[in-house]
Amino acid sequence: MTRLINGLHHVTALAGGAQKNLNFYAGILGLRLLKKTINFDAPDVYHLYYGDETGSPGSIMTFFPYGTIPRGRKGTSQLTYTAFSVPTESLGFWMDRLNKYSIAFDKPQKRFNETYLRFEDPDGLGIELVANDEDTRTGWQDSSIDPDKAIRGFHSVTLHETKGEPTLNLLTGLMQHTVVADGEGLFRLQAGNGGPGTYVDVLASTASLRGQQGAGTVHHVAFSTDSDETQLEIRGQLEEAGLGVTPVADRNYFHSIYFREPGGILFEIATNPPGFAIDEKPDELGSRLMLPGWYEPRRASIEAGLEPIELKGF
Ligand code: ZN
Repeated sequence: MTRLINGLHHVTALAGGAQKNLNFYAGILGLRLLKKTINFDAPDVYHLYYGDETGSPGSIMTFFPYGTIPRGRKGTSQLTYTAFSVPTESLGFWMDRLNKYSIAFDKPQKRFNETYLRFEDPDGLGIELVANDEDTRTGWQDSSIDPDKAIRGFHSVTLHETKGEPTLNLLTGLMQHTVVADGEGLFRLQAGNGGPGTYVDVLASTASLRGQQGAGTVHHVAFSTDSDETQLEIRGQLEEAGLGVTPVADRNYFHSIYFREPGGILFEIATNPPGFAIDEKPDELGSRLMLPGWYEPRRASIEAGLEPIELKGF
């Protein structure tokens, strides 16, 4: 069987203010600002990308900071928690750091034998840090955080469904995941080589209302595929299964297809190439506003419409 899915690629969420978003993800969490561009469908809104040094698939968190849009609500048919992977011995450091920046967090909890911290970003987006010693990735080394303690990339995402089975069937079928643990209504799946960055937790529970889109909610989760060829192969299978998959869209840094999984969460499958160095040098990623070619003639007016942002004081 050809491998069509490797694990997570990126998570994209809606945010409020761009500066607060930058301070939280690049400042407090110490991710690299990889790309400062615009929402290709709404050029008056930034699209900010964060991740490791090169923006490896499985490390990329992206935001549309819409400014003053209302907050959403966590609930079913939604990706409710995005978990990042950190070394076990760094957990004390992270608790001190969250305290330092007055970010409230729940006391450490355990899931599938791993300890994690749960908190929210400034817009209420669910974030976790999962302590583990199986992650060999390096993360972004050049933030104000000691490289030994830095976030390595994603650990997992939690998909909150009312019924788990249809989503599990899709993930374990066409999407080539395997169930590696389960308990208390929660299933852990992995793709590709497994390990942090490939985990998807499916939570089946009717205890919450349906999630509502707004600031502080995830818009979609993207899974990684190796190439345009593997993308077309899985696209054909998704189409045949009646999942209403879109045509391939060029997102400049990757190529994307989208569809809704049976529980209602928007899924994307994104190619690993070409990556973030397509329009900036690797050591200059995120340093200036990048526009796709068709928007370049409008650069002056687009720039004038965006809030200037800068990382200072971290
Ligand atoms: Zn996406």
